[in-house]
Amino acid sequence: MSELLLRGGTVHALDDDRTTAEAVLFREGRVAAVGDAGTVEAESTDAEVIDLDGRTVLPGFNDAHTHVFSVGIGLLETDLSAADDREEALALLADNAASTPAGEWVLGFSYDESSWPAGERDYLTKAELDSVSEDHPVVAVRVDGHSATLNSRGLDAVDFSGVEHDVREEHGEPTGRVVEDATGRVRAASYPDVPKASEALDAAIDRYHELGVTSIQTVAGLTRVRDHGYVQQEALFAHWRDDDLDLRTTFYVPQWQAESLSDLEFASGFGDDWLRLGGLKTFSDGSIGSETAKTHREFAGGGFGEMVNDREQLREWFAHAARTNQQIATHAIGGEAIDIVIDEYERALSEYDDEFDPRLRVEHAELATDEAIERMADAGIVASMQPNFLQWNGEDGLYENRLGADVRPENNRYRDVLDAGVPLAFGSDKMPPGPLYGMQFAVESPHESQRVGVDEALAAYTRGAAYAEFQEDEKGTLEPGRFGDAVVLDADPYENADAFDEIGVELTIVDGEIAYDAR
Ligand SMILES: [Zn+2]
Repeated sequence: MSELLLRGGTVHALDDDRTTAEAVLFREGRVAAVGDAGTVEAESTDAEVIDLDGRTVLPGFNDAHTHVFSVGIGLLETDLSAADDREEALALLADNAASTPAGEWVLGFSYDESSWPAGERDYLTKAELDSVSEDHPVVAVRVDGHSATLNSRGLDAVDFSGVEHDVREEHGEPTGRVVEDATGRVRAASYPDVPKASEALDAAIDRYHELGVTSIQTVAGLTRVRDHGYVQQEALFAHWRDDDLDLRTTFYVPQWQAESLSDLEFASGFGDDWLRLGGLKTFSDGSIGSETAKTHREFAGGGFGEMVNDREQLREWFAHAARTNQQIATHAIGGEAIDIVIDEYERALSEYDDEFDPRLRVEHAELATDEAIERMADAGIVASMQPNFLQWNGEDGLYENRLGADVRPENNRYRDVLDAGVPLAFGSDKMPPGPLYGMQFAVESPHESQRVGVDEALAAYTRGAAYAEFQEDEKGTLEPGRFGDAVVLDADPYENADAFDEIGVELTIVDGEIAYDAR
């Protein structure tokens, strides 16, 4: 019988009573006992024992919104989030080009011009990427994944027919910048094959374990799956078949599959303890960073953003999902997009079985109005939000620069969401992944009115995330019978509200076994 006993620290079970204990025992992949050391030891028969030496145990973190392949590919390719300025970003790409055979793609991810010094905060340009290489197609994808810049060779290598409206031009010439659907085409054209996707998945799983994450909810991006040959699914299912998926994964299917998913008559939750179907992922608008979120406020660069799918299209997809009791997770960032999604969710709710609460999800909800938050509470709509987004909410930060200073206290309203009674789930949207990194912003938000407590933040990244995927009876707490998924931290978050990001992950335990060990 496989047993693992952790004792001599502080175990926060995060159950309804917020039990704290000295020890926890895992047996056969589940939590077997939580309590004082004597009682828990008496329960064990032949356990591997780990002395916690005062460390802190929490339920494993659950990233409620991520793109697992982007995480992995980002690790394998050039990570531009590491660049402190334009020059460094271009140098990183040039390094990549130097070791890439001519003609093959040079891929850079997660560039964030808003974090660069004043005067350097324009998007990367075609000319700059031409200076990186003229022998390779080069692309730098923005951190939000909603836009990218290509060099001339890259523009030539992608088929943009049908999505020309998302290829930016000046004086009739492409600027090298593409947004939304055209960014999807770039991904499709530059996408890796199955072995590379499999390597990316392994890299992402390792990274998640390092971060104390034991479950993820991976949502479809904008790229049409069929455009890149199902490599992601193939890698995911191969890992699952080979028992290599030691990160519990719930996946949300892309909007284009709404009808076929419904025709299969699979309801949300189909799958097993490792790989489950969450439901349908749809998009309503773009992003703030790319000035494509559909807002009530005007962007600095002009305009109010765009719906990437209009109301009628969303309605049709939602009806397909409702027909077979599938949950829907809809990307909605701008205030107007959120309002439209809630309208259509309210309509769709009447089409689900009366006994089934589909826990419809709004992903991001960054610019939700008071009224929208109230409506979400009334309809039981889940807010799936990303506390790490507040990294852009500082003075002279992206939110302010794109939408004006008065947007700063009015975005990512975690406090108002919780106070209204809206179920809150935290995730990272892989910008970057990292629950401790993200939670520090929710706890120390520059806008005190939107701060949440340590317990509320931890709950949103564990219990709340589990609720968002109908898994609250299996995970999110350390109660007997729940999955043996936990994280051991070198300091107690409850006592380090002002230094969350300095807390280290010592151990990650998945299914009652050690998946990551930093000791
Ligand atoms: Zn996302």
